[in-house]
Amino acid sequence: MTNDSLEQLLVVQGHDTRATQLRTRRQALPERTEAAKVAAADQALAARGEALDAERHRLERDQARLDDEVATLRDKAAHADKMMYSGTITNPRELQGFQDEVASLGRRVGELEEQEIEIMVEREPFDEEATALHAERAILAERAEALAMRITVAEAEIDAELETVVGDRATAAADVPADLLEEYEALRSVHGGVGISRLEHGTCGGCHMKLSAVELARIKALPPDARIHCEDCDRLLVR
Ligand SMILES: [Zn+2]
Repeated sequence: MTNDSLEQLLVVQGHDTRATQLRTRRQALPERTEAAKVAAADQALAARGEALDAERHRLERDQARLDDEVATLRDKAAHADKMMYSGTITNPRELQGFQDEVASLGRRVGELEEQEIEIMVEREPFDEEATALHAERAILAERAEALAMRITVAEAEIDAELETVVGDRATAAADVPADLLEEYEALRSVHGGVGISRLEHGTCGGCHMKLSAVELARIKALPPDARIHCEDCDRLLVR
């Protein structure tokens, strides 16, 4: 093995580092954070919408009950009215009874209609809020859609670049001896993705520690294909 293998491994490292950066960027797209915020805001509005609907349905039911009651009372009043003017009842006291009933029913209808108006007044702010909420959710839905589209585009861009990097990495790795690649992978897994770096001006490019003069002298005496490691971080070093 010559120093070429180590140089080649450094190229592999470059592709691996780039791939990691791309994967990190893909995971941490700002649009993703924004989309999560939009989704949370929409969820809160949806919950409020459900509470509003419950109130509105309750008032609708009350209104329907009053409507039914009013209709029944009106039927009764119409019947009494008809009896009064039918000509079949001649007894004045009986006639007076019907007259009283019509008047009493009318008053009750008036009271119920009053209650219906109160319900309508009570309902109004709920309806207004529901309309505003609906509009707000429509805006959020639009934003969510736009963000989803931007995420898709960004992901596609990153994936295309990642594919190239992974391909280049495979090509570069093909020239590296299997055992060296294995050692590199093992180092990479315990050293934050960096298994090999260049030794420049006596300093390890991985941990940025300066190697001792003794160690540097020892390294210098080794053959060019020797696998040397940083004495501090243990990463492979390329001279
Ligand atoms: Zn080091």
